[in-house]
Amino acid sequence: MKTESFIKKQPYIIAGPCSAESESQLLQVANKIKDIADVFRAGCWKPRTSPNSFEGFGKRSLKWLQKVQNETGLKVITEVATAKHVELCLSAGIDMLWIGARTTVNPFYVQEIAEAIKGVNIPVFVKNPIHPEIGLWLGALERLDKSGVHKLCAIHRGFYNYKKTGYRNDPKWEVPIKLREYVSHIPIICDPSHIAGNASLIEDVSQIAMDINLDGLMIETHALPQTALSDSEQQVTPKELQKILSNLILR
Ligand code: PEP
Ligand code: MN
Repeated sequence: MKTESFIKKQPYIIAGPCSAESESQLLQVANKIKDIADVFRAGCWKPRTSPNSFEGFGKRSLKWLQKVQNETGLKVITEVATAKHVELCLSAGIDMLWIGARTTVNPFYVQEIAEAIKGVNIPVFVKNPIHPEIGLWLGALERLDKSGVHKLCAIHRGFYNYKKTGYRNDPKWEVPIKLREYVSHIPIICDPSHIAGNASLIEDVSQIAMDINLDGLMIETHALPQTALSDSEQQVTPKELQKILSNLILR
């Protein structure tokens, strides 16, 4: 695979809420983290288990991300799961895209996304599939590469738990380590929020990610986590984010 490196700083930090809930909610967090994060995240389309859960504000929330770009100078990233999402993000000038765990499992969707991005030099982050099948993770990166997407990064967000482990998603650290053996030139960051499932565990998971030399962190951050419309238990406040990052020991 041909890759163009675009991650110039280590650890590379992506932070922001699980979901884009309103313009003011995004600006409130973005203004507080603009000096400690490299990229601002927020999900506009949310893949929820139940259709009765909040599924995101879709297209109209892309405008709120543009406001974050203009007001804070932060780069912004959101999740895409279909060619339509890609098209809307590209026309809204979203800086980077991520493919979620529920999409990486489906080669048809990954192929559709890869073809929709073709010819556009945008960084794409690929989360691991829900179950620990490294071939699917690698296959998704290869599909993007074959479409000419060369600014690639993998995101390790843990795996569905078949047994209780104390984590929302089992980290199975051996899997990202194995991925690195296969594609040593592709950076891998960790998403401790979806591994932990609980704000109190984020710091420890982040430290392990640094100890195994992952390249960065994606941490869900919300001004008032208890009011969040999705993943409220695992989101940290901007203050807590700052503390987590300053406590990290980089060896
Ligand atoms: C998210 O990042 O909010 C998300 C839905 O992630 P995942 O695909 O890892 O479940
Ligand atoms: Mn989330």
